[in-house]
Amino acid sequence: MKVSEILNKDNVTISCEIFPPKMGTQLENYKAVVAEMAKLKPAYLSCTYGATGGTSDYTVEIADTINACGIPAIAHLTCVSSTKEKVHSVIAELKERSIENILALRGDIPEHADFPLPDQYKHAIELIREIKEEGDFCIGGACYPEGHPEAKTMDEDLDYLKEKVEAGCDFLTTQLFFDNNIYYRFLYKALAKGIEVPVTAGIMPLTTAAQVKRSISLTGNLVPKKFISIVDRFGEHPAAMKQAGIAYATEQIIDLVANGVNHIHIYSMNHPDVAGKIMDNLSEIYVR
Ligand code: FAD
Repeated sequence: MKVSEILNKDNVTISCEIFPPKMGTQLENYKAVVAEMAKLKPAYLSCTYGATGGTSDYTVEIADTINACGIPAIAHLTCVSSTKEKVHSVIAELKERSIENILALRGDIPEHADFPLPDQYKHAIELIREIKEEGDFCIGGACYPEGHPEAKTMDEDLDYLKEKVEAGCDFLTTQLFFDNNIYYRFLYKALAKGIEVPVTAGIMPLTTAAQVKRSISLTGNLVPKKFISIVDRFGEHPAAMKQAGIAYATEQIIDLVANGVNHIHIYSMNHPDVAGKIMDNLSEIYVR
């Protein structure tokens, strides 16, 4: 099923994200994580491509496993570390396996990399155009409520985002954010630019102090004082930190839904227990 069909309906949806294991890990064991996530009945499940320490080599296979569990799958695809030829071979494999949804991304440019080489795509927009040429895929793109770290200004970032959507994005998913006001302001600015596709709100439950530090250093996100207090008080107490992180994410989602945001994407980081607890907290809000 195409994710655009899910997102164009007027009900609350919660989707989740997983990342593939490192090379050499037993893929069979990993598939158990997929099965656990599928039991939560998310609206769809997306699988990253070479992010968070996982390999890109398993993404297609994992997306296939997700579909086999009866949950619509999104396969992420980046172009930063691949040649155009490699990108095309992955698109062909996705088509062959009837994976209809692709989140088309550039990826982070590795430090000291000579990028782009002549046989590489420079921006996600080029990848989106190629995917559109290759078949009838539902295509998603990434967006950044606090601005992409490389963008000179938010306005410039939004202009490029508009071009990206016009090139063929059916929906957008935001980078994680911890202050909903940042997302609301972003939505207004995007709408003012004429960006009208669904913008799924990316929520990351931070359940360990180490995760908080890592997430801030990777994304440069603003962290509200309220959340800093949680880490100060509970950071050294794993069970309490986990409970507080789940409660914070739950509260963020309730506020979003109360303000008319229907589509939530949980960066569940291969933790079905965390995603499950959030969904249980929302059992009357998100009817599975
Ligand atoms: P782009 O859209 O190419 O934008 C990158 C920068 O270039 C921005 O500053 C933008 O303003 C600018 N720009 C865009 N178009 C143009 C243009 N035509 N000319 C000049 N400048 C332009 N990374 C992974 O490695 N694997 C994943 O699976 C993954 N999944 C993600 C999922 C989501 C929802 C998000 C938000 C991010 C994800 N990332 C992933 C991280 C992402 O790859 C990085 O943030 C990357 O730096 C930018 O990717 P992009 O697709 O947004 O790039």
